[in-house]
Amino acid sequence: MVTIAETITSAAASIASDTSRLDAELLLAHSLGVDRSYLFTWPDKRLAVDQLAAFNALLARRMVGEPVAHILGHQGFWSLQLAVNASTLIPRPDTEVLVETALSLCPDVALDVIDLGTGTGAIALALKAERPLWRVVASDASLDACRLAQRNAADNGLDVAIFCAHWLQSVADNSMDVVISNPPYIDAADPHLKQGDVRFEPLSALVSEAAGTADLRSIAEQSLRVLRRGGRLLVEHGYDQREAVQQILNTLGYDDVHSVQDYGGQWRVTTGLRGG
Ligand code: GLN
Repeated sequence: MVTIAETITSAAASIASDTSRLDAELLLAHSLGVDRSYLFTWPDKRLAVDQLAAFNALLARRMVGEPVAHILGHQGFWSLQLAVNASTLIPRPDTEVLVETALSLCPDVALDVIDLGTGTGAIALALKAERPLWRVVASDASLDACRLAQRNAADNGLDVAIFCAHWLQSVADNSMDVVISNPPYIDAADPHLKQGDVRFEPLSALVSEAAGTADLRSIAEQSLRVLRRGGRLLVEHGYDQREAVQQILNTLGYDDVHSVQDYGGQWRVTTGLRGG
């Protein structure tokens, strides 16, 4: 009978991922119904046959590439645990930079805030958790994504209304102080789309026309109508899209256009104020 430590080591060797050991630990903890610290406290504990079988079933899914978040059914983002499924992007640590930027640039008063293409609800829910005074709403074009975000709002006890719409369609003129979004921004020809976890995520959440900038441009254009004067737009984008996004915002007449790097030192977020 194998121990916890042996099981993790041999499983990690069979997972082709940059995070193979962490993946193995997360899957083993999940199948045993314990948290990861248990694994480090009891490395010599032996697994029962049925425990090993349950773990091996999860490991087999990971070995063919299925993301850990889909196997576990949830993913941590900011301070929240979010349900995840194949209808949306899996929340990324990089997107926490978008949340941080909004928190640092926007005042802690009763603002109207909308998150576009909310997916799991990650951005909207993290903002509401930090800024209870903000009136946060979120939209997504996918009905399945909206249902998931609604469930995550309820499970985390956060008052965020979620509705189904394409970007700012049906949102009133001059009604928002903040528009925030992590839209699809990957070029359809990008080879990364054929590698790793993204293969299991919806292309509609990843890929955009015009070298990945078409949705960023639509959002920036539509936000001019919806933002109040002095309201702020914040978008996540690809590491090589800073200049293109800044140019879009500058051409549309946004003020205070600047970009922020993610934890890996890549330009990841660009923001501007509706002038006028
Ligand atoms: N940053 C994500 C990735 O590289 C893409 C997210 C997006 O398209 N909005 O996989």
